[in-house]
Formats: sequence, structure tokens, C-alpha cells
Amino acid sequence: MADLILFWHRRDLRISDNLGLAAARERSPQVVGVFCLDPDILEADDVAPARVTYMIGCLAQLQERYQIVGSELLILKGKPTQQIPQVAATLGAAAVYWNRDVEPYARQRDTAVAAALKEKGIEMRTTTWDQLLHAPGDVMTGAGKPYTVYGPFWRNWQKSVKLSPVESLQDAVGLDDAERQGTDAIALPSAPELGFIWDAALPLEPGEQPAREQLATFGQRAIEAYDEQRDFPAVLGTSLLSAALKFGAVGIREVWQTAVAAYDACRSDEARANVQTWMKELAWREFYQHVMYFFPMLAEGPYRQAWQDFPWDNDEVKFRAWCEGRTGYPIVDAAMRQLNETGWMHNRCRMIVASFLTKDLIIDWRWGEKYFMQTLVDGDLSANNGGWQWSASSGMDPKPLRIFNPASQAKKFDADAEYIRQWVPEIRHVDTGALVSGKLSTLDLEGTGYVAPIVDHKKQQAIFKERYKQQKARVQ
Ligand SMILES: Cc1cc2nc3c(=O)[nH]c(=O)nc-3n(C[C@H](O)[C@H](O)[C@H](O)COP(=O)(O)OP(=O)(O)OC[C@H]3O[C@@H](n4cnc5c(N)ncnc54)[C@H](O)[C@@H]3O)c2cc1C
Repeated sequence: MADLILFWHRRDLRISDNLGLAAARERSPQVVGVFCLDPDILEADDVAPARVTYMIGCLAQLQERYQIVGSELLILKGKPTQQIPQVAATLGAAAVYWNRDVEPYARQRDTAVAAALKEKGIEMRTTTWDQLLHAPGDVMTGAGKPYTVYGPFWRNWQKSVKLSPVESLQDAVGLDDAERQGTDAIALPSAPELGFIWDAALPLEPGEQPAREQLATFGQRAIEAYDEQRDFPAVLGTSLLSAALKFGAVGIREVWQTAVAAYDACRSDEARANVQTWMKELAWREFYQHVMYFFPMLAEGPYRQAWQDFPWDNDEVKFRAWCEGRTGYPIVDAAMRQLNETGWMHNRCRMIVASFLTKDLIIDWRWGEKYFMQTLVDGDLSANNGGWQWSASSGMDPKPLRIFNPASQAKKFDADAEYIRQWVPEIRHVDTGALVSGKLSTLDLEGTGYVAPIVDHKKQQAIFKERYKQQKARVQ
């Protein structure tokens, strides 16, 4: 009889191009998937209904995929430290395989699961870094240290040799009824059954198939205009793959292969430059994961000294206005409403609203970071923390102070106010110039219910800069 290998899925919800799963299948045809609904994650206060809905959709597809290739995916509910060793022992599994993760919680959990398995005498195999093209430690400075600046990281990362996609799971063998019944596996609950209601459409259909189709579509056309289009929120110029990459609905090697194929197929330097800009975004994703791995304290707070104990205003009323898209700054409000209504926000707008929260409302970036996690379909600790620390100027980024002017941003990236009109419909009749500059007259506002600006950008900027200066002087 072949060995039974359990493969524990976490953020790799697919059977194609999955390094750990391929290694398990290489060892034995009897590979059974396991996913554990972990209360420590699902009951935390930073879970987004859109994200859970996407994840459950991916799991439903994953179950189907397993069935098609002859095996199955078991759903467990409870603490992985108990559930995983228990199911492995009940089934007499020869080994449990999983892919590694960078997040502090995941690393702590995995160490505990590994210890529990060891105690039961069950082998585990956890050497694969499936979610990254380069594992932490693979791309280091000349002095053998982790990079803390993106530029040199990218230069080294891009020239390092990358793996090709690995074979999809196939010809696998599952459990028999008696074996399955002996486990605590449950039927996959829906998101509402878990307490998460998300009625709107998701930016990307959940699951492996839609993610791979989206990748193929993007890789055929939009990628060649990415650099020219990616900054305009009214244009669909980005891949929309972020949730798929967060949950591993698509393999990163396959993503890279698509980008390289698009690059090779380009007929002009301009087109190649566009594709390369997209590759650079994939490298940002890896950079933030590497730094989270090497500097896990980032998850707790600011990297820069000047931002420890910064005297934030932390006004709750203004924070609510920001969350709900009622600041009186049309571009900021449009972006926050896009987030609330779709679970996704355009990258340019993520930067605009993050700068506005920290530099105009003078609210701790961690409040914004958490709100993003509570709403984003693609909410991911490393990327989100990295994005917020970049915007707040509290992270590793060498440029110390970055303040976005909402009006200049809107003028440059939403010149026709198309995005503003889409998401703030009550003022869509207003003149484009006023929408973009944010200078709406009393007459413009009359009868619309839209508010006048809750702060003055110029004044707030001056206050913020002065406070930052004092804080820097204090901590140095
Ligand atoms: C304040 C702030 C918070 C953010 N929070 C998240 C988050 O929680 N999860 C998340 O995936 N991205 C986050 N980002 C990065 C970026 O905004 C999104 O990845 C992007 O908008 C997703 O859209 P897309 O898939 O169409 O991206 P594309 O432009 O098509 O990029 C391709 C992929 O590259 C990765 N990527 C792109 N830009 C970045 C970046 N700056 N940092 C890290 N990875 C990147 C993503 O995986 C993305 O799917 C944040 C950015 C900021 C400024």
C-alpha cells in the first residue's frame, strides 16, 4: 500500500504549480488535502467579509479540483495545533507536507504544529517556499544581510534564476468512506455560515481556474500597456490578481512565466518597459514578504525611530469620516467608497488615502492599516504593512517624508473626474475642475448631502511638518 501523505493548504489554494503538493505527489499517489478553518484567524478583529468570501470560493473550487484528480480536500475547524496532528494520527498518515510562510503568526503556528506532529512520531516536510519566486535568504546583500531598500533588492532579485512551474496534481488516490468518517472533517461552510456577509461582486471570481484565466488575459494584452495605464484609477489597467496571489489561487512561477513570455513577445522597447514595470510590482510583493520575514517587528509598528510615540491626533470622528468616504475631498472619498463597495482599491488611490489619513488627518497609520485589513479582498499583512509604512514614511523607505496633495493627485490621475463621478455620484453634476481641485462651492454642494472638506490640506500639512520636525529632534 502506498503511503498516505496529507498536504496542508493555507495560502496555496490550488493544485497546479504548487511546490509542496508536487513534492507530496512525487512521494506517493495517496495525497489528501487538508484545510483548517482557524478560529485565531477567523475570529480576529481584522477579517474582511470580502476576503473570507473569496477564500471560501477558492476552497470550494479546490475541493472540486481534488475530486477530478481522484482525491479529496478535507475541511477541518479548530486550532491547527490540535486538528492537524489529530487528523494525521487518525488516518495513520506517513507524513504531513506544507509550504512555508513569512508571517509571524503563521511561523509560530507552524512551529507548534511541527512540535505536536513530532510528539506523535509523524513526519513532516516543510521546506518549500511556494508563494515566492525567491525564498527569504536567497536574495541578500553582498555582505549577506537582508535588503532594507527596494532598489538594490530588485536588481539582485530580477537577475536571480527562477524556477519553472511544477506539474499539477494528477492521478491521486483519496480516502475510503470508513477512513473519512473517522476524521473530524466537516462540509465546507459558506461565508455567511461563518458570520461573513458579502453581497457585492468580487473583483475576481474565486478559484484556480478564474485566476489562471485572468492571468492569461492580462498577459496577452494589458501587460504591454501596464506602465502607461496603471496609475489611472478610472482605467482597468492592472491585473486584479492580488487576491489570487494572496490566497495562492495562482502559482507565482506560472505568473512569472506569463510575464516573461509577454516580455519576449514584445515588439518594441516601450512594450518591454511596460512588462518590466509589472515584474517590478511582483518584486515589491516579494520585497515586503522578505522584510516581514527578517524584521517581524514591522507587524507591530513603525520601523523608523521618529515614528515611535508620534503625537498623532487620532480623532475618532475624522477617522469614521475617512472610513466612510465623507471627508469632503472627492478623490479620497471616491477611493474609500470603492474599497467599501468592492473590497478592492486601486493602488494609486491606496497611496492617496493613506497619505491623507496620516498627513492630513494626522491619524496613526496603524488605524488605516487595520481598516484596510477589515475591508480588502486582498488584505495581506506584508503588502499592507509595507504599503502603509511607505505612505506614512515610517518604514524602511529611504525617502523620509512624502506628502500627497489630493488635488494634484486627482488632477494628474483623474483629470476628467471620471473615477470621482463613478464613486461619488451625488456630485457628478459638478464641474470637472471643481471635482478635481476639491474646491466645491456652496452652490455645488447644495442639496447634494456631500460635505465641505473636514480639514484644510495646507494647514494640516504645516502642522504635520512641524510636529515631524520636533519629533525627529526629540528622538535623535
Ligand atoms: C497603503 C497600501 C496598502 C496596500 N495593501 C495591500 C494588501 O493588503 N494586499 C496587496 O496584495 N497589496 C496591497 N497593496 C499593494 C497594491 O496596492 C495592490 O497589490 C494592488 O493594487 C493590487 O491590484 P492588482 O492585483 O491589479 O495589482 P497589479 O498592479 O496588477 O500588480 C500585480 C501584483 O503585484 C503585487 N503588488 C503590486 N503592487 C504592490 C505593492 N506596492 N506592494 C506589494 N505588492 C504589490 C500584487 O500581488 C499584485 O496583485 C497596498 C498598497 C498600499 C499603498
